[in-house]
Amino acid sequence: MNCDANSEIRNLLGQKINVLDDGFVRLVDVMGDDSSIVQAARVSYGEGTKKVSEDKALIRYLLRHHHTTPFEMCEIKLHVRVPMDCWRQWIRHRTANVNEYSTRYSIAIDAAQATEPEKWRLQAQDNRQGSEGYLPTESGIRLSQRESELHNSCREVYKDRIEAGVAREQARKDLPLSTYTEAYWKIDLHNLLHFLALRMDSHAQYEIRQYANTIGNEIVSKWVPHTWAAFLDYRLNSISLSGTEIGFMVLLNSGKQDVLLESMREKGWIKKVDNSWKATREAEEFAAKLITLGLTPPWQ
Ligand SMILES: Cc1cc2nc3c(=O)[nH]c(=O)nc-3n(C[C@H](O)[C@H](O)[C@H](O)COP(=O)(O)OP(=O)(O)OC[C@H]3O[C@@H](n4cnc5c(N)ncnc54)[C@H](O)[C@@H]3O)c2cc1C
Repeated sequence: MNCDANSEIRNLLGQKINVLDDGFVRLVDVMGDDSSIVQAARVSYGEGTKKVSEDKALIRYLLRHHHTTPFEMCEIKLHVRVPMDCWRQWIRHRTANVNEYSTRYSIAIDAAQATEPEKWRLQAQDNRQGSEGYLPTESGIRLSQRESELHNSCREVYKDRIEAGVAREQARKDLPLSTYTEAYWKIDLHNLLHFLALRMDSHAQYEIRQYANTIGNEIVSKWVPHTWAAFLDYRLNSISLSGTEIGFMVLLNSGKQDVLLESMREKGWIKKVDNSWKATREAEEFAAKLITLGLTPPWQ
């Protein structure tokens, strides 16, 4: 571990932080900290910045302008325990180094992520990939009961195969995706922030969001506090506007609502249906940005 690491992060070393019902994130090691980013950046910018306030400003400048390589000077190694369906999303991030628990070599971990009766999410109507709201608890009780039966049955079948001498690599094939796996996951800070930006986002699936929130809020915030604050400001809580949206904003800001609506209609963002506006997905996303800015989308 980096000897400059602050005491807060040193205290976290080796600690398991629980996630979901049986998962965890455990900090194994870190290399570098905010000062390593500044140190690397000074190679390109010279000795100009020295004070803590200037270091903080430099980190903010680097992140704001996507000057990303200094952030690659910091690395983190985590030990994670994650349900396989969640891991399947996680492993798509190719810029990490991974070593996963082998169910060819070892008996599969005897734990599967279970859903509480009130936690079954309904399919979102406007986003095919998302969920919104929850099923009534009485339906949830039945689903959780059936889930428990399924987990037990799958485990029984798996054990039966193992006891019959079937190879572990084949015996595992019907284990549910809710089965927990474990891995060591090492990634540099630049790519970790990219992971967190995607997986802390409200559009990411709830389960992986819990892991990303834990890594971000519990670990990264303590490890590199200046970088974390800049990340929240310039990435996670920021809004980006396309050229088209900026054009619409100019019209909205100059009070030309009719011109704005006509321009949006011409571009196919909205259309009149039964005397009200029907918006495309992009127009809905633009509306959400306006609302964040305290403005009212005139087509809603
Ligand atoms: C909300 C959400 C929904 C998703 N839905 C789907 C889906 O329906 N189906 C699906 O298959 N995936 C889906 N994904 C996964 C997504 O497409 C990405 O594969 C995943 O988020 C990893 O992102 P990444 O490639 O940017 O990250 P990383 O693999 O960590 O890469 C980081 C960056 O490195 C660069 N990079 C890495 N490898 C290469 C390479 N070989 N070539 C060029 N550049 C590279 C890229 O700039 C990349 O952005 C979804 C992701 C999210 C967040």
